[in-house]
Amino acid sequence: MPELPEAETIARDLHPRLQEAKVTAVDVHHEDVLGRPGTGFGDALPGRVVAGVGRRGKNVVIAFQDEGRLLVNLGMTGRLVLSDAPGAADCRHVAVRLLLQDGRSLLYDDVRRFGLLELFEPEEWPARDAELGLEPLADDFTADALRDMTRRSRTPIRNFLLDQSKVAGVGNIYALEALFRAGIRPTRRANRVTRAEATSLRNGIRDVLEEAIANRGTTFSDYRDAAGERGGFEPLLQVYGREGRPCTRCGTAIKRKVLTNRSAFYCPSCQR
Ligand SMILES: [Zn+2]
Repeated sequence: MPELPEAETIARDLHPRLQEAKVTAVDVHHEDVLGRPGTGFGDALPGRVVAGVGRRGKNVVIAFQDEGRLLVNLGMTGRLVLSDAPGAADCRHVAVRLLLQDGRSLLYDDVRRFGLLELFEPEEWPARDAELGLEPLADDFTADALRDMTRRSRTPIRNFLLDQSKVAGVGNIYALEALFRAGIRPTRRANRVTRAEATSLRNGIRDVLEEAIANRGTTFSDYRDAAGERGGFEPLLQVYGREGRPCTRCGTAIKRKVLTNRSAFYCPSCQR
């Protein structure tokens, strides 16, 4: 499932190639991926010119020169593919197609269609932006900022990290990897994380995200970057998906526990 590193990889790929591209037409094949404005989406985009492509949390954000923004949440299987033609051979589940003035097209392809496309007018964006928490790679994501939030929460720390209104962009894979690096068991209550552990956790989150970005993300099932390539971080995972295999640090078998309907992986010796 795409998290921050996968969205960042796609945004970095698309940014130089989409700048100043003008949308001339939109084909909506599956309306269920449209969050807003829903009907009318196809009429709201033509004429807009791309200023740049960035990221907020797990979402790819296409910013237009008029300061409107198209937020793309890739859900489980969403892909953004820029093609030199109106279509692309390997995109067989195109939900939305943006035709560009130069003959290229930006395809939103999504097999399972849990993804969401939302268009925000300039005045609507700040409210949406404010719903998302701290960016873990930004300067204001400090150990103190993290501790200020964890000490007020009694939820398991893994669940805390998945709350996009607290820290934006971290999902199950990278939350579990960061907790392993910090030596904190996923089931520990957030308010039981010490000051020193909050520092380790903050650093662990940043390190794992930066390493994943450097490896173009983790590929599970359907994730592809904007060039259609798989991510390279999967072999570097230390706990996620490694139940029963030896801990890379101490050799103890990695455990799996279902926590709020989602698997948590951890080393019972290294993580307390
Ligand atoms: Zn261990």
